[in-house]
Amino acid sequence: MNSQVFQTPIEYLKGVGTARAEVLKKDLGIFKYEDLLRHFPFKYIDRTRFYKIRDINPELPHVQVVARLTHKEILGEKHTKRLIVHAQDDTGVMELAWFQGIKWAEKNLVIGKAYIIFGKPGMFNGKAQMAHPEIEPYSPEALKGKGNVSLQPGYNSTEKLKTFSLDSKGLQKLVAILLDQFAREISEILPQYLLQKLNLMSRVDAYRNIHFPENATLLYEAQRRLKFEELFLIQLRLLKSKLLRTQKFKGNIFGSVGQCFNTFYHDKIPFPLTNAQKRVLKEIRLDTQRGVQMNRLLQGDVGSGKTVVALMSMLLAIDNGFQTCIMAPTEILANQHFISIKQLLGDDFVEVALLTGSVKKKDRKIIHENLENGKLKILIGTHALIEDAVQFQNLGFVVIDEQHRFGVEQRAKLWRKNTIPPHVLVMTATPIPRTLAMTLYGDLDVSVIDELPAGRKPIETLHFYESQRLQMFGLIKREITLGRQVYVVYPLIQESEKLDLKNLMDGYETMSREFPLPQYRLSVVHGKIPAADKAFEMQRFVKGDTQIMVATTVIEVGVNVPNASVMIIENAERFGLSQLHQLRGRVGRGAEQSYCILMSGGKLSREGRIRLDTMVRTNNGFEISEIDLQLRGPGNIEGTQQSGVLDLKLADLATDQEILLQARKIVEDIFARDPQLALPEHQVLHYAFASKNAGLSWDKIS
Ligand code: ADP
Ligand code: MG
Repeated sequence: MNSQVFQTPIEYLKGVGTARAEVLKKDLGIFKYEDLLRHFPFKYIDRTRFYKIRDINPELPHVQVVARLTHKEILGEKHTKRLIVHAQDDTGVMELAWFQGIKWAEKNLVIGKAYIIFGKPGMFNGKAQMAHPEIEPYSPEALKGKGNVSLQPGYNSTEKLKTFSLDSKGLQKLVAILLDQFAREISEILPQYLLQKLNLMSRVDAYRNIHFPENATLLYEAQRRLKFEELFLIQLRLLKSKLLRTQKFKGNIFGSVGQCFNTFYHDKIPFPLTNAQKRVLKEIRLDTQRGVQMNRLLQGDVGSGKTVVALMSMLLAIDNGFQTCIMAPTEILANQHFISIKQLLGDDFVEVALLTGSVKKKDRKIIHENLENGKLKILIGTHALIEDAVQFQNLGFVVIDEQHRFGVEQRAKLWRKNTIPPHVLVMTATPIPRTLAMTLYGDLDVSVIDELPAGRKPIETLHFYESQRLQMFGLIKREITLGRQVYVVYPLIQESEKLDLKNLMDGYETMSREFPLPQYRLSVVHGKIPAADKAFEMQRFVKGDTQIMVATTVIEVGVNVPNASVMIIENAERFGLSQLHQLRGRVGRGAEQSYCILMSGGKLSREGRIRLDTMVRTNNGFEISEIDLQLRGPGNIEGTQQSGVLDLKLADLATDQEILLQARKIVEDIFARDPQLALPEHQVLHYAFASKNAGLSWDKIS
């Protein structure tokens, strides 16, 4: 069905051969017929429009003219040797130049004849000029085109390939040969009923039209079809692997809500849960009753109250006889979780311990013992948790904070700490757009806390220019007088590390002068300070011994100082949106009104302005992440860099959201209706699992 022909090494294609194959492989990664077929044009050139010579200028892209050749001569010697040809229409004359292939052009171009000339116009000595144009004899048929030249595909090529005559035009010829010979071997891999329902072009037509579109509408339809296919296949694989996982791994059943949970809920919790928190708890409750391992991603802005949701889920696990743990990416964060959970639980309620690299051997031993005898119910820690020495009696629920810092493998290690793998709740405060989540974490279930606890005052964000610096100082003074604390953050990136550090130290000095001892006390923290000193300074700030913390983004994740009410971000235009949002999340944690001041120079790029305006306009992390996606594209969104999932050839998660949502929905429906893909109309889908790149020639796998 799906022919093996597309696995043929590229050298066997007519017109390729070993030498060209070598360069195709090296420069474009085209090894097989399939790769060539999937080397899609990156642009299309409109060949329906003709220009007059008078109207062309160097600003224009590729243009074509019809003109008669009036003159040709070879100029220069050796390196400077060139063929110059004059072409004339009823509006003017232009010059055509060849520096290579002179012999061919000299021999084939006939003075007095009319030609269709196509190329990128330039200017030379005040005259319109084209170097190495495409040129073919004019005739009414040629003008009409050979069936489908109206939108000519433009392919990526390289200098090296060009010396093998494989420029865009050369590649176009190869693709044409391939399609001529083998197009009929491209068979459909989407169920017929879907094509009808979604009005999608057939696969073979889509491949034909994406390379040689007969018109703009067909091109659009070809792209829509192939983008859909690309996203559909990813979702099909993701949801299939989720299905397999749930079939393979049993899950502990938390059948009852018991004393721990109830006591906490009725006697201890100091605030009413938000509706979003309740909803997520319900989702987790359902997940943990089904006998299937839970893998859930919990997204929620900083301060949305994820911890208490995690804690209550853990109490549920404990009520059902299990132990639980929280793994955080840094010691500071683990520490903070430990403190806030101890605070929420109160004394003599549930046994909690903290395990990090700096726990003494003696204490560590006690922890190990209490884990193994089952006394210890909640273990909070860093990577130290996944060490082999850490053995639980009965681990049933795992919380992982700040997802993207832990790899899949590390997650899996925690699973193996019990015969039936524990339920896993991954928490992240870096909201990512829905489409990205669906693709990156498509095999996880996703919960969202999209509501902040009541009574929280939204952080006020202001954009200040240099001229408003005094105003900024005034705000700091006022807040410190009120007993609050202040962050001042400087950008620091590797490429300009020295300069950035100097800026930070200069800034620190200015601040020290503006806010002198003994009335004011400042801390400074950056990457070049020894870890111990850094921790010491952080602690001083956390304890309130210092009021102003001047720092680089080391403070970005997780630091919790509820008394801090001002975040100053210097050179704010240099930060990405999600980073700005994370930084802003460091304040607004207490009951007081908080402020975020974005300092910037007067000259902003378009993107820089959009970023700052967005920050001023909204506090909503999800909205911000959507804009970030539009600005930077999916490859640059934090935490996605290493993910191969995003190597999309045609679809774009920023602009093709609708197609993705449609694909996701359809795949969900398919698995709901036919989990084994056993129905006759779904047989065709089994091809989708055999090849990673949704190739053209697959072995059927069932
Ligand atoms: P996150 O981890 O999502 O950033 P936390 O769980 O640390 O947020 O919660 C932030 C603060 O809000 C904590 O001090 C927490 O006790 C408090 N909090 C959580 N839920 C509520 C709620 N429903 N009402 C009021 N305060 C809440
Ligand atoms: Mg948190």
